[in-house]
Amino acid sequence: MSSEELDRKLDDIWTAMTNCIDRGLATEGELPGGLQVKRRAGEIHRKLEAERGLNIAPPHVINDWISCYAMAVNEENAAGGKVVTSPTNGAASVVPAVIRYYLDHCLGANQAGVRDFLLTATAIGGLVKHNASISGAEVGCQGEVGSASAMAAAGLCAVLGGTNAQIENAAEIALEHHLGMTCDPVKGLVQVPCIERNGLGAIKAVAAASLSLRGDGQHFMPLDNCINAMRDTGRDMDEKYKETSQGGLAVNLLNC
Ligand code: SF4
Repeated sequence: MSSEELDRKLDDIWTAMTNCIDRGLATEGELPGGLQVKRRAGEIHRKLEAERGLNIAPPHVINDWISCYAMAVNEENAAGGKVVTSPTNGAASVVPAVIRYYLDHCLGANQAGVRDFLLTATAIGGLVKHNASISGAEVGCQGEVGSASAMAAAGLCAVLGGTNAQIENAAEIALEHHLGMTCDPVKGLVQVPCIERNGLGAIKAVAAASLSLRGDGQHFMPLDNCINAMRDTGRDMDEKYKETSQGGLAVNLLNC
């Protein structure tokens, strides 16, 4: 396709992502499914906005901004709203949250950067899908939120000026520190642990991009090897940790 058409399609994707964040931040109430999980993104966002400019927020509060963008998308997903699979519905929040972080909190951010972010993230997602899996049912959550975090880390590193070596390093750091993560959603709903987990995946992506930018791209474990390790770990993982809700958090609920 022409570069104009490509840009238009990328802009459409970002528009759908950012609209989803905005809808999630503006919607209150309980999520469907019977777990009585309350939407939290909007309330967190309101508190953050109220603190803006008061010079009272410690530096770690940036994590709350990143989390609330991600939680907004995952709450929309849990409520049956429109999300962009990136790479899956369950992990649809990490990439948009990190792009929103880039746009709203990084100096010099612009729409051209959003397009480069999406293309870079796509390249990493393609590598993971081709050589391992992006499915929680196949390899656990390491393949969903782990892959999304690697995609977002690479995207952010690219638009903050990273070299190809630093981009590869960023993706590897993010994926490496999700290895072994199981998929154990309570009652089969994509709510607990999924909503918070996307927020933490986004925070890890930002940290991985930042760490990689501190180096020169040289690092111990190549991304390809890390992807292979994820595939092998997923293969060895017990089936009850692969989206069956028969293990982990899904079977460790309060009795009253
Ligand atoms: S725990 Fe399972 S359902 Fe939830 S985000 Fe991870 S892979 Fe998806």
